[in-house]
Parts: sequence; structure tokens; C-alpha cells
Amino acid sequence: MLIGQGIDAHRFEPGRRLVLGGVEIAHDQGLAAHSDGDVVIHALCDALLGAAGLGDIGHHFPDQDAAYAGIDSRILLRRVTDALAERGLAVQNADLTITAQAPKLAPHIAAMRATLAGDLGCPPARVNVKATTTERMGFTGRGEGIAAFAVVLLDGA
Ligand code: MG
Repeated sequence: MLIGQGIDAHRFEPGRRLVLGGVEIAHDQGLAAHSDGDVVIHALCDALLGAAGLGDIGHHFPDQDAAYAGIDSRILLRRVTDALAERGLAVQNADLTITAQAPKLAPHIAAMRATLAGDLGCPPARVNVKATTTERMGFTGRGEGIAAFAVVLLDGA
């Protein structure tokens, strides 16, 4: 068994789509990033890479590389999943927490679980997604951006 954790945060920016956990969510702004800004998938990728001892997402997909401009983060997640599979590693479970003051994420949790589980190749029941506010404290509480935290367990190899 191998455990990994990942953390990411992105700043809100007007005029961008908001994509979290591979799901597009209606909101008046999205997250600034070189990619689509999916902070949930970025945290998850870092947890997966961490568990596998493979460094971090910035090492594998540099944000100076034009190849990743505006990229759908699900493509990155599937590449990470493939890299683990090549090493005989499979996801046992993932537990994700999103901190956001707005928008309300509860209506989108099931879709995120199904989407992420599909990319990870495991049942949705093994991919837990939680959302919380920080009671208007800190950068997420002030609505400056969104942060995500991931813990994963791998088995194999
Ligand atoms: Mg990121």
C-alpha cells in the first residue's frame, strides 16, 4: 500500500469557465491557470504521483509548455493513471476536499465522483469528494479562489 497527498489552489478570474473535478459548474468566474484550472484534479494528480514516488504535476506537465495551454485536466489525470498502471499500481481509494465560499458545490459532487472514478478506473464509491467553506476566513473564505486537498491509497507493485 502506498499513500499520497496533494494540495492545490487557484485564484478566481472573471471570464473563465469554472471546472472542478472534471465537471463544468455555472459561476460568474473561473479559475486562472495555464490549464483549465481544475484545482481538484491537480490536487488529485499530485496525490497519485506522490504515492507512486513520481514527483509532482509541475514536473510532468510544466506550465511553461505551450502543449498544456488550456488543456482539459482530465487528460492529465488519465496520463497519470496510465503512468501508475504501467508500474502495476492501482487506486484503492481517493478522498478529496474542496474549500470554496462559492458556488455551492453539493449539487455537483455526484458528477465529480463519477467523472473522476471513470478517469481513475475505479468505482465511484472509492472516490469521495467533500466540499466545505472556511467560514469566510482566509483566501477561499474571502472568495479569492478555491483550494483542493487530496489523499489517495494505491496498491500493487
Ligand atoms: Mg493547479
